[in-house]
Amino acid sequence: MASHRWPVIVAPQFDELLSSWLHRLAFANGVAPRAFARVLGLAPGMWSASLDLRLPGNTASQLCTNTGVSLDHLSGMTLSHALPKRILLPLRSSGRRDRSTWLQFCSRCLAEDPHPYFRRRWRLASRVACSRHGCRLRDRCPFCRSRIAVFDQGKLVPQHYCVRCWYDLRRASIVAISPGAKWFDGCIDDIFRSEALSSSPPGRALVRRLQSIPRLAGSFPESVLTNLSTAARTRCVERLTRHLSDWLMNEEDVDDGVRQSLIPAADSHSSLVELLVAALAPKRGRPSTAMNGRRPTLDPAKLFKAHIETLDMRSLSSTGIGQ
Ligand SMILES: [Zn+2]
Ligand SMILES: [Zn+2]
Repeated sequence: MASHRWPVIVAPQFDELLSSWLHRLAFANGVAPRAFARVLGLAPGMWSASLDLRLPGNTASQLCTNTGVSLDHLSGMTLSHALPKRILLPLRSSGRRDRSTWLQFCSRCLAEDPHPYFRRRWRLASRVACSRHGCRLRDRCPFCRSRIAVFDQGKLVPQHYCVRCWYDLRRASIVAISPGAKWFDGCIDDIFRSEALSSSPPGRALVRRLQSIPRLAGSFPESVLTNLSTAARTRCVERLTRHLSDWLMNEEDVDDGVRQSLIPAADSHSSLVELLVAALAPKRGRPSTAMNGRRPTLDPAKLFKAHIETLDMRSLSSTGIGQ
């Protein structure tokens, strides 16, 4: 068996995308990512990003034999595992600056990683912020504006260097994001961490509502969320949560501890999902003027109450009460 193993094996990291691990594996073994497609018997192009979406059985077996990483672990790194597929960023790029690319990143996460890698959740259109660093994600090289196309890298350099201009993505400056948008991002991310909840009827309704956020915010009425760049999606979410941001920043009764309690993950978000589905419903007769009405689209008080109830439910269930 040992003779089938490649010389250097790299360990997959937490929430690492399969393609990210493959690029690191290729580099560690002295092969540029574009040439690594041939090692796996695959056609060039977006070979690794395609494997994230669907890992054929023969490729999985080869990787298992050559690296010793189990088939289950390999499958867990793909996007077919526990992520809402309808809000994955599509594998296409129109070249327009306000259109989506397929992969986002946080430069501070990459800078702090001992071995910089791309996360699975950075493939979701609903993600616009890094929950660890509180900054906006990026979806393009800040120097040449090109997308993250490591699968096309013909030189032997680590994956955190831009393929076109070799800019070190770890050096990209931090982009700020509003408190309301940050809360919304973290809240949606928490909800979709529960596979049962995201595949339930309310969870699927929420995914449909998320797709229509650009129309609801009135910023890009002709687009769905997955078609927009990270900057454009952030603009929509910031408009939608403007009142929540004002409240988080200005409400005198809200101390820092309470503000923080709005952010953390919860195990169950059923009441919050229902509230969000209702809040993101299209407003009849005025599809693009939601932000012009007197009533906030996302009511901070209601959201806060639902979130506290969720946290209460979690503490009850952790003590065995209420089950
Ligand atoms: Zn980060
Ligand atoms: Zn570049």
